Amino acid sequence: MSENSRFKTVLLFFSVFFFALISSGVDKNTAILIEKEIEKHKSEIIKIRRFLHMNPELSNQEYQTAKLVATKLMSLGLEVKSGIAKTGVTALLPGIQQGFTVALRADMDALPIQELTDVPYKSLIPGVMHACGHDVHTSIALGTAMVLNTLKQKIRGNIKFIFQPAEEGPPPGEEGGAFLMIKEGVLDEPPVGAIFGLHVWPENLGEVLFSSGPIMASADGFQIIIKGKSSHGAKPHEGIDAITLASQVILSIQSIVSRRIDPTDPAVISIGKMEGGIRSNIIAEEVRLEGTIRTLSDSNRKKIPQLIENIVKGITHSSDADYIFSYKKGAPPVYNHPELGKLMLPTLLELLGGNNVKQLKPQMVAEDFSYYCQKIPGFFFFLGVKDPNQETMAPLHSPYFNPDERSIFLGIKIMCHLLLDGLEHQSYLERNSQSSL
Ligand SMILES: [Zn+2]
Ligand SMILES: [Zn+2]
Repeated sequence: MSENSRFKTVLLFFSVFFFALISSGVDKNTAILIEKEIEKHKSEIIKIRRFLHMNPELSNQEYQTAKLVATKLMSLGLEVKSGIAKTGVTALLPGIQQGFTVALRADMDALPIQELTDVPYKSLIPGVMHACGHDVHTSIALGTAMVLNTLKQKIRGNIKFIFQPAEEGPPPGEEGGAFLMIKEGVLDEPPVGAIFGLHVWPENLGEVLFSSGPIMASADGFQIIIKGKSSHGAKPHEGIDAITLASQVILSIQSIVSRRIDPTDPAVISIGKMEGGIRSNIIAEEVRLEGTIRTLSDSNRKKIPQLIENIVKGITHSSDADYIFSYKKGAPPVYNHPELGKLMLPTLLELLGGNNVKQLKPQMVAEDFSYYCQKIPGFFFFLGVKDPNQETMAPLHSPYFNPDERSIFLGIKIMCHLLLDGLEHQSYLERNSQSSL
């Protein structure tokens, strides 16, 4: 065992010991009932997942998915609301006692990708695929509702199920996703005190990755239009070459992260699109650049757009060119509430074993679960979905992405425990919910 892993083991031991003092967890009897109920619903849940996988729908068009979700939730006798933020669905499961409300959020949309797996339940819709595992998320949330609905006697408060459209981003010109769900009141009536979510992750089945504080980055976009002056390619001095200026801008922007940002506070600036020019022998009049900015802190998030614009301004103006800089704010960083994490970590450790709960370095990908975390304490983790017998698995957003379906049952089990635990800790959460937001 390396020094590093010995240190991790000792740390984990103390974590388990310390957190065991504050965790009650669900009682043994309830844990057995959860297992039994999952077992009972297994074949139905797989049927649901495969139906969703075969019938993927793009962001803000999740009509059939929402219909299936709402129909199932209504058949359970829950209080269901549809048509929130276009195709969103919520359901309230009241327990036997009044109290705190905790929520579970799942996203429902698919991606414009042609599936290339050879599973028998591959997508029937050309060019559309559940390549981000949102079919698994939806199935886990529905399965959790099915299981907890049979355990009402154990619920001290309410559980709200939130099925959200457009996590991958609404189509251009449309609103959508978590932001719109919140705007349309999903965290009200009754007020939700804490929210839980997960994302499938290409790590081994049985593993969960988690950390407190920022866990995923903000994702903002920018566009730069460099306006030069066209001339003959043989007479560049008569024009202003937007391509040469764009090249300088691109290279200079790379120095922001390496020279202007605190290296202990990560940030990414990537320019993924560049277009300009007309012909090989004409000096380009205009070049468009588009990029993404990923940050984990508010300070970097505020600072970087200004630094980019300063560079663009300096380079273009020094050559008598002009520019248009536009910046579009996207999702903020996903922030795992430290107090909620402290309370829930023992549950993960107990369910999965210390070796299977892994510390995750913050990821520079984004998730609009972050909007919920801005309002109330949130707990978000990554669920391993790689068949451990396989060496590797295709990443998220790949046409070959194929999660191990056994992860669905584990996801349901974890969510049942976390939600019930959340309600058990309601007085603690109410006292501490605003402390670190
Ligand atoms: Zn995705
Ligand atoms: Zn996703």
